Amino acid sequence: MRRLAERFGLRHREYANISPTIHGGAESLPSQSPQFLRKRAPFTGCDAGHTSFHVDPFGRASICKIGREPSVDLVRDGPPGLLRLSGISDDLLRRQGGCTGCTLQGTCGTCMPLVQLYRRAKAPLATYCQHQEPRKEVSQ
Ligand code: SF4
Repeated sequence: MRRLAERFGLRHREYANISPTIHGGAESLPSQSPQFLRKRAPFTGCDAGHTSFHVDPFGRASICKIGREPSVDLVRDGPPGLLRLSGISDDLLRRQGGCTGCTLQGTCGTCMPLVQLYRRAKAPLATYCQHQEPRKEVSQ
């Protein structure tokens, strides 16, 4: 795929790390080849929900394909419902739960919605977090 993109002179981006499935299961993770895991660049924010969004086949719009809840029912609310996505994005991207107060946030490359999926999938900590032990969930 890389060579194909280069042959056509196209910009491309490679996602080497496999994510848990959207249902929070770990099905895809055992097929991850550790030698191809990449350290993600520190997460410094994302425009998801502000300049882009994701829509599933049922017309539910979310900030991206990872952070699917809360979502907006486009069939019921129509395009004006999309205006809610920026607020939803700000809430979802804020460090919370086990990431609350983490002093390593500045060097963490995993966005909060992705952390939530990894946690639900009970993925090995090393695939998404810099800590050796899971941190306690904290509600705010
Ligand atoms: S290092 Fe771990 S606990 Fe800290 S922000 Fe990243 S995922 Fe959360």
